[in-house]
Amino acid sequence: MTTAEVDPRRRVPRTDAVLADPRLVAAAGRLGRDVVKQQVVAAQGRVRSGELAPEDVADAAVAALPGSLSSTDAVLNATGVVLHTNLGRAPLSPAAVEAVTAAAGYADVEFDLATGRRARRGRGALDALAAAVPAAGSVLAVNNGAAALVLATTALAAGREVVISRGEMVEIGDGFRLPELIASTGARLREVGTTNRTAAADYAAALGPDTGCILKVHPSNFRVEGFTSAASVDALARLGVPLVVDIGSGLLAPDPLLPAEPDADSTLRAGADLVTASGDKLLGGPQAGLLLGRTDVVERLRRHPLARALRVDKLTLAALEATLRGPVSPTWAALRADPDVLRARAEQLVAALAADGLPAAVVPSDGAVGGGGAPGLTLPGWAVALPEHYAVALRTGRPAVVGRVERGRCLLDLRCVGADDDARLLTAVRAARPRVEDRGTGDPETVR
Ligand SMILES: *Cc1c(COP(=O)(O)O)cnc(C)c1O
Repeated sequence: MTTAEVDPRRRVPRTDAVLADPRLVAAAGRLGRDVVKQQVVAAQGRVRSGELAPEDVADAAVAALPGSLSSTDAVLNATGVVLHTNLGRAPLSPAAVEAVTAAAGYADVEFDLATGRRARRGRGALDALAAAVPAAGSVLAVNNGAAALVLATTALAAGREVVISRGEMVEIGDGFRLPELIASTGARLREVGTTNRTAAADYAAALGPDTGCILKVHPSNFRVEGFTSAASVDALARLGVPLVVDIGSGLLAPDPLLPAEPDADSTLRAGADLVTASGDKLLGGPQAGLLLGRTDVVERLRRHPLARALRVDKLTLAALEATLRGPVSPTWAALRADPDVLRARAEQLVAALAADGLPAAVVPSDGAVGGGGAPGLTLPGWAVALPEHYAVALRTGRPAVVGRVERGRCLLDLRCVGADDDARLLTAVRAARPRVEDRGTGDPETVR
């Protein structure tokens, strides 16, 4: 080799020349020129250090391009936890995704195409919500469940008292506590009863001229067992002050699968003036806070200045309406998944992995609803069990697969993996294998 051939710096292709590659031109249109140029510059750097042949710069840049511009990556949820807050809670249905795409550009979210005038914002979504909960006189959607509570307590009790049971002063997650949230609105908390038992008479004794409202909160992420009692909604409704019930989960009507979970329609029928709930828990829709109840109460909230600060965007409204009107959501498909079908899918995956010599087994696996509701309820299902070391390799692969590590095994519970994603799951496990073995931890240790 001559010196000129040995010194790669002299043969680094010019940036402009590489960027003219049709694949990179197309990518620049999709991802922006800066992102593409960054990868070209990185590939040129590898040529300079002798790692890459000069003629491979364009190929290397193409290979290194990100799939999208968002650093939020899609994951396959193989945890068996249907509403996993860290994984974005409810996955949107294809119908909701389509609706979001349609609303993403200019859209008639607040405009009547027939008359050419301004129209009620999000009327389609609100009408669908009202239709799903016949006992609600009016409905409103805000940013999330916490925002719904803030709006309700601000409008009904700022500068006054919110009467609440000591057993319902809950933390909703990540250090956020309802009592602090409510106190931040300028309402004062008036605690009644004890941690395990509170009667309607305890509330009655605390009522007075300063009472703004009674707040009843569903313990959606924990369970108190033993010597316990709580006042019923209908007993509290008879006390003559506005009754707000935070049901949490967003279940709109009773469901036999979750008999202990309160629903909006029954709660309103029992006499609540206002129900607050999340859109991305058991409703299976986008993040949103739902407010449903007596027309005069909901109207008071709608006209409060804070309502404007908490309003939802057009994408949320579109997804919410499509979720309400559309077919069974992925959330309910996962909740109702037939264990026999899950088992058959697990057997098929394990057979395919066994054919590659991968140590996998079919094992029973209990799923859960998650932080969004029904604490303590187990959903019997099936999982593919792999050696524990697969967990990291799967999590850091593409697509990322998040399983559950249990008793020295990595379980891939199929409940929340769509049946049409089994092939992707299989590919991800196969791709994880060499990385497991590289770490010297993938010895064909048998899975029980
Ligand atoms: C989840 C939950 C909240 C908070 O709702 P976000 O939508 O997460 O803001 C409030 N109250 C209860 C009872 C909940 O379960």
